[in-house]
Amino acid sequence: MHVSLKTLLNRVERLKGFVYESSQLSDSMIEIQLRARCGSQAQCSGCQRPAPGYDHLAPRRFQFVPLWGLMTFFVYAPRRVDCSDCGIVVEHLAWALGKRPLTRSYAWFLASWARLLSWQEVSRTFRTSWECVFRSVEMAVDWGRARMDLSGITAVGIDEIHWQKGKFLTLVYQINQGMKRLLFVSENREEKSLRKFFLWLGTERSAVIQFICSDMWQPYLNVIAERAKGALNILDRYHIAAKMNKALDEVRAKETRALVARTRGGKTKVILTHSRWCLLKRPENLTATQSIKLKELLACNLRTIRAYLLKEEFQLFWDYLSPAWAEKFMDQWTTKVMRSRIEPMKKIARMIRSHKPLILNWFEARGQVSLGAVEGLNNKLKASIRKSYGFRTANAIKIMLYHKLGALPEPQFAHRFC
Ligand SMILES: [Zn+2]
Repeated sequence: MHVSLKTLLNRVERLKGFVYESSQLSDSMIEIQLRARCGSQAQCSGCQRPAPGYDHLAPRRFQFVPLWGLMTFFVYAPRRVDCSDCGIVVEHLAWALGKRPLTRSYAWFLASWARLLSWQEVSRTFRTSWECVFRSVEMAVDWGRARMDLSGITAVGIDEIHWQKGKFLTLVYQINQGMKRLLFVSENREEKSLRKFFLWLGTERSAVIQFICSDMWQPYLNVIAERAKGALNILDRYHIAAKMNKALDEVRAKETRALVARTRGGKTKVILTHSRWCLLKRPENLTATQSIKLKELLACNLRTIRAYLLKEEFQLFWDYLSPAWAEKFMDQWTTKVMRSRIEPMKKIARMIRSHKPLILNWFEARGQVSLGAVEGLNNKLKASIRKSYGFRTANAIKIMLYHKLGALPEPQFAHRFC
């Protein structure tokens, strides 16, 4: 059996107007010489129309997908053409990406791996630079975002993430039943940040949005009211739960400190230390040890425990079928909390009261949009950010997130290398 490299290359990467001429194998790399097919005219890189040749440049190397783990390069001396419109310019090379020293196939290859592994792992595995992986993903993201189908976006979720000390990103997801993806990332969490999304989406597409899930962050609420007048703004269950957990954690931390100060290491202290996860996790998710710990805690008359019970009680709110009864429950719950003298919980109750209509919208939207989608996407996003240590710029984070969570289209390849 005999398969030549030339045959293989013509199978996986046939180039119109060029031929694979020869190849050399050195220590750790394969070099493949290319030349223009006899009689084929060069294309102008400016307008991509055939143009008469002018001269040759020195040979250039373009990194290709590694073959059998060996670094592989195309070597080609580009022609310059004399185009009647563009002047004297270098010819168009179908396998190249502008002036970059790698082939289009290799860039897509790296980008595909970068969806599965961290950029650092990709650069280490294929012995290339982090910068090279970054540029490849950037190319894939630019390509995909220019070709996104933006029709049928009727439900979106707005979220924020703290990604670096004092730095936030605003995220907008599509949360339709059949399509959940990251649509837009913007720096900071100001009104301006969210306005950029509506600007990008355009007035016509913004007008068809029916549901917007968000948290109680006022700048977002302002922009939603201004830019998506026809949409039902829902305050997300998951955002309310997160706020409640934060309040509970505040109560616990304060009480633990007070107890430690009072007992100087006595028995009571032991009760609340190491209790954090018992109290923050949903009871059904606790481990056996945590469940026992929780039972012990519940037997004590601590502020933390009273706050915990209030938090758990509010879960019932979401189970109501009738919004009217849910509202009644909400009124009773907030009244009870206001009498509790636990300040962080009272703050939550006040917040819930002042956003009542938006929270009750949840019942109207239930069953029509994937209300759990924002939480799911947020978890995926956090995992991606954790894996990408060493990202210093907001631009790199944005590109990584679009790549991993944007469900972006890709070109049709004659051959898939991975
Ligand atoms: Zn031209």
